Amino acid sequence: MAGLPDVAAASPLGLYLHIPFCEAICNYCNFNRGVFDAGVKQQYLGALSAEIATCRDGSRVDSVFFGGGTPSVLEPSEVAGLIQRCRSSFDVDPATEITLEMNPETASPERLEGYRAGGITRLSLGVQSFRDEELRRLGRLHTADRAVEAFGLARAAGFDDISVDLMVWLPGQTVSDWLESVETMIDLGPDHASMYLLELYPNAPLREEMARGGWTQAPDDTAAEMYHAGLDRLEAAGYRQYEISNVARPDRQSRHNLKYWTDGAWVGFGCGAHSTRDGRRWHNVTETGAYIDRVEGGTSPVASCRTLSAEERLTDTLFLGFRLFEGVDMTAVEQRFGVDVWARWGDELAPFVDAGLLTRDRGRLRLTRSGMLLASEVMCVFV
Ligand code: SF4
Repeated sequence: MAGLPDVAAASPLGLYLHIPFCEAICNYCNFNRGVFDAGVKQQYLGALSAEIATCRDGSRVDSVFFGGGTPSVLEPSEVAGLIQRCRSSFDVDPATEITLEMNPETASPERLEGYRAGGITRLSLGVQSFRDEELRRLGRLHTADRAVEAFGLARAAGFDDISVDLMVWLPGQTVSDWLESVETMIDLGPDHASMYLLELYPNAPLREEMARGGWTQAPDDTAAEMYHAGLDRLEAAGYRQYEISNVARPDRQSRHNLKYWTDGAWVGFGCGAHSTRDGRRWHNVTETGAYIDRVEGGTSPVASCRTLSAEERLTDTLFLGFRLFEGVDMTAVEQRFGVDVWARWGDELAPFVDAGLLTRDRGRLRLTRSGMLLASEVMCVFV
């Protein structure tokens, strides 16, 4: 597999900017974030800007993503400044998709208009639920009404590309509770939606609150029913599933996130940000203070970097390809890696085809909707 053609090198880059601040910490959150501090924010923005400046290489870029944390704690002028910095260091296409993750409680007409004027083209609204009881259990700062209001303000500010995040399998949530949130979202009419199953990490404070409140997650079968019922409703409303957790209206798929799932190239900036480019993968130091110290001290913030072997790139292509509704093109994999997927793994994959979890059709292998819920079991075949 030596000398792989580098498909990613020929495609435009994505840029990811990590904003690690939140107004409060949700009780289930395992992301790299901390409570907002105005002084640290100023230092952090200086470091982030400096890091982007040091990567100046003029490469073509067609997606920028502000993720967090809560990027919408930044002022519009700060976001605009970072976009300008990206434009100075890279060849940012005029039609670039520039996404900002926003929490509903931070939305105001001035802020939203400011983001649009500063260059944001797409909003990803972290709603999680349209039921107040569920939002309270998760420790979210907004109410369902506030989320609906934020969506309306975003449309009024001119955003024509809005994604809404919902979480499914919440403590105490029934199938009809879940569908209530899905219906409210459909009524709003976002262009894209993500549905994430709640994953409780070992020390999540939510675990204790669940024990105190006597709330439990529904059995696995009910979680599967929620997933299927949500997708059925979304498909009936004109959305098309394109990834395990994501649906979109036609031509509204997330260009940036597709880079992660289609073996694309992206560069991440900020604490804990990951990058993959030219067959190498690296990530920055995770802790905000350490990141600032390194950049201010003129040292690279990169904590580790390695060259991916051809075998790792093949496995990544398969793992990520299976996340997509359209699955993996086995002919393309063979052309690129010289590996016949079915000849190598067919014996282990066949039982999943027989069980209706995987389909093999016209040179493509893809998970069925039921298979998507058991994706990790199928993907174990490639480990
Ligand atoms: S707002 Fe998002 S990043 Fe911040 S604590 Fe809550 S879930 Fe985590």
